[in-house]
Amino acid sequence: MPLSFFMAQDAEFVPVEAVSFRALSKMTARQRDSATAAGAIALELARWIEERFTLPAADIPTLEGQDPEQAAAIVRERWGLGQTPISNMVHLLEMHGVRVFSLASDVASVDAYSFRTNGVPFVILNTGKTGERRRFDAAHELGHLVMHCGDEVPHGKEAEQVAQKFAAAFLMPRRPVLASGLRNAGIDQILIAKRHWKVAAMALTHRLAELDLLTEWGYRDTCVRLTQMGYRRGELSGAIVPETSQVLAKVFKALREQGIGPTEIADKINVLPEELRRHVFGLTPIAVDGDKHGGPSPEGRRLRVLSSPKS
Ligand SMILES: [Zn+2]
Repeated sequence: MPLSFFMAQDAEFVPVEAVSFRALSKMTARQRDSATAAGAIALELARWIEERFTLPAADIPTLEGQDPEQAAAIVRERWGLGQTPISNMVHLLEMHGVRVFSLASDVASVDAYSFRTNGVPFVILNTGKTGERRRFDAAHELGHLVMHCGDEVPHGKEAEQVAQKFAAAFLMPRRPVLASGLRNAGIDQILIAKRHWKVAAMALTHRLAELDLLTEWGYRDTCVRLTQMGYRRGELSGAIVPETSQVLAKVFKALREQGIGPTEIADKINVLPEELRRHVFGLTPIAVDGDKHGGPSPEGRRLRVLSSPKS
């Protein structure tokens, strides 16, 4: 961290009670702190961006205590999503006012988490997962924002199951899945349908069992076979490209046109450009030496993209 990081006013604290960690009890204090510290940096950056850009206002239904299946259907209806697959979960969240940032993949113990501050919802996604997992994590966190919207987010197995059920129902809505001819579906059918819904093969299999489209035996047998094929670790066929932030990409582009590069942005929130990159899905170009404090004039700046943006 640069010296300015330690000299700056204390960054806003992301309280652990307000955060939806999946395995809070299993996390060490250090893992928990490094994850909430990432949240604090995201918060600083979001503040800085909001002073310059108008971002979508938060528009998240609050359905505390609702059945997750119902809640997912209500959110789909209010957002006018119909019954079709969500084309991009991260963009959808951003359109409805959620600020989405990334967590470096080395914080492996945390899949994703969310919190609300001053009415603004944040979702932090781990970039070390497959594209399908990242979508599911985003939908899971939406579940927490919709159904656990009090000051204290409930922790524990039950709250997690609610968010998982919400995510499955949101990404794979009951009605079209029931109507898609997947009763006692074989592996081939599941692998085609998972591409349609852009979910993991395992997640779809679980959903089919939940909707009684697979018998208990069929569910277990499918899980065993998918595991043998390697689908527990990743999506082998038809894997999707991991989703990243549309808002951040647009903001960085607009700033670049004003001659403001990652070094300046990182300076403003008192972190190094490499650190900034970790929180924004790697969407900022890598700053090269000689680019330090170039000021707002584009001519005085030498910024090169060393690698194409990736997540
Ligand atoms: Zn959770």
